Amino acid sequence: MSQRTLKGRELQKIKWEGERIVGCQSTNHVSCTGDLWECERCNKKTCWEEGSTDLFDLCDDCWYDVRVLKDEYLTLLEHWQEIHPKTIRTNQITN
Ligand SMILES: [Zn+2]
Ligand SMILES: [Zn+2]
Repeated sequence: MSQRTLKGRELQKIKWEGERIVGCQSTNHVSCTGDLWECERCNKKTCWEEGSTDLFDLCDDCWYDVRVLKDEYLTLLEHWQEIHPKTIRTNQITN
C-alpha cells in the first residue's frame, strides 16, 4: 500500500463556494469554517460554525430546540417511531 493512497483517504475533499462550504445546509451563518459534519438529531449537514460544547452532536437549531424549547433529544428515526408506534413490528427490532 502506497503512502499516497493513505494520505488521500485521510484528507476529506471540501469544496468551497466563496465563504461557504458546498453542502453546508445551515442558514445561521454566512461564512463557513472547518469541515462538514452531520447533526445526529435532524441529519442536517453543517460546518464547524455550528455545534456546542455540551451537545456537540447537535446543530444549532436542534440545540435550541432541546436546550431552550425543552424538546426531546430524539434522532429522526426515534422521532418517526414516536409518531408511528403502531407501524413498528416487534420482529423488525434486531437488538
Ligand atoms: Zn457552514
Ligand atoms: Zn439538527
